[in-house]
Amino acid sequence: MTDKKLSSIKHLAKRYARATGLTQVQALDLVAGKLGFANWTKLVSASKNDWTPDPEQIASVEEFVRQAFPLEDFQTGNAEAMARRFEFLGQAKHGVIGGHSYRLQVVSHDVIMAGDGWSIKVPENPGAAPIVQTSPENDRHCPVFDPEFLQKALGLANDLAVQVRGEISTDWPRRSTKPDSNGIVRHPLWGDESDLWFCMHCDGKITGTQIAKNLWHCPGCGASPLDIFETAFWCEDDGTSLPPVKVDGGVDRGEPDFRVVDDRPKIELNSEKITLLLRSALLDDATNITERLGALQALISVDDENDVCIALEEDLWPEGKEPVQALIVAAQLGIEIELVSMWSTIPFHWPGIGETTSSTSDYTQMMLDAYAQYDGSPDRKTDE
Ligand SMILES: [Zn+2]
Repeated sequence: MTDKKLSSIKHLAKRYARATGLTQVQALDLVAGKLGFANWTKLVSASKNDWTPDPEQIASVEEFVRQAFPLEDFQTGNAEAMARRFEFLGQAKHGVIGGHSYRLQVVSHDVIMAGDGWSIKVPENPGAAPIVQTSPENDRHCPVFDPEFLQKALGLANDLAVQVRGEISTDWPRRSTKPDSNGIVRHPLWGDESDLWFCMHCDGKITGTQIAKNLWHCPGCGASPLDIFETAFWCEDDGTSLPPVKVDGGVDRGEPDFRVVDDRPKIELNSEKITLLLRSALLDDATNITERLGALQALISVDDENDVCIALEEDLWPEGKEPVQALIVAAQLGIEIELVSMWSTIPFHWPGIGETTSSTSDYTQMMLDAYAQYDGSPDRKTDE
């Protein structure tokens, strides 16, 4: 195995250690375990021989690290048991409902169920409704529109979501999900305790009971535990004036949210893209360096209706030369072109030199030689 591969695995283990609070040695052993070794030392000695991880194994370690819980009490858990559970959660299950096959998996604590042209997402946030997505091209034939299919599919996805949420809360301190008699709860990630919390995302004020019930997602806007803080440090009055979140959360919001997502690639012609294509076509039309400079220097303006005016420099584009390719491209795009001549300061003297060659390096040399004859350096201003 290359040193680069080994150090990228090491890097992943370090990230895992940072996220979980494990020591680096523990994290290295855990990652080695993911790759089928008893510990890190065994992996290193195997790598000195012939062993090298395949891209799939690297991807599975990356996913493992990505799903790491930033939990302080992870340290007390059995690393091996944790590794097995992550594997279980990360694995996709395959199945069939009413002849339609599906894939069910957990991605960053959300449950995703997907089939041909449809997907169902049950978010980690217990207060959020499941999202059913379809694509427009097979919208009508999607099994998710069959109530019986949808009910079964949602049942499976919801069951897994309950399991995932259960796993999350067992890893949290008890005080994070069970308020004490004064309603004080402990933030599962930051560890501070309070009976009042603030959502940085929607500026809502949330009680300890509300936030614990909603698995530390904002009951108002659904923001994740990362956005929940004990003080609203971003407000001048530390959040005293912020409005309380009225929704209770923690209850199933019931009906899934149907969305049609059209992810087919579409072209949106704007002035930038039209200009790019036309300039490229002008370059096709250019037969020597002078004309190529003319194409690069042409002023192409596109109006609101996508009609175009191309101004070509008189000294760099022969009078009367039709830019045939540009006209063809314009016709393909269904736009009108107006051609005009302009006269401006050209970048180098003697444009005729460029008409004799189609090589930029030849042109450059001839142009420099010409300047040298006049004892002028090319960086001297040519228009003085
Ligand atoms: Zn919020």
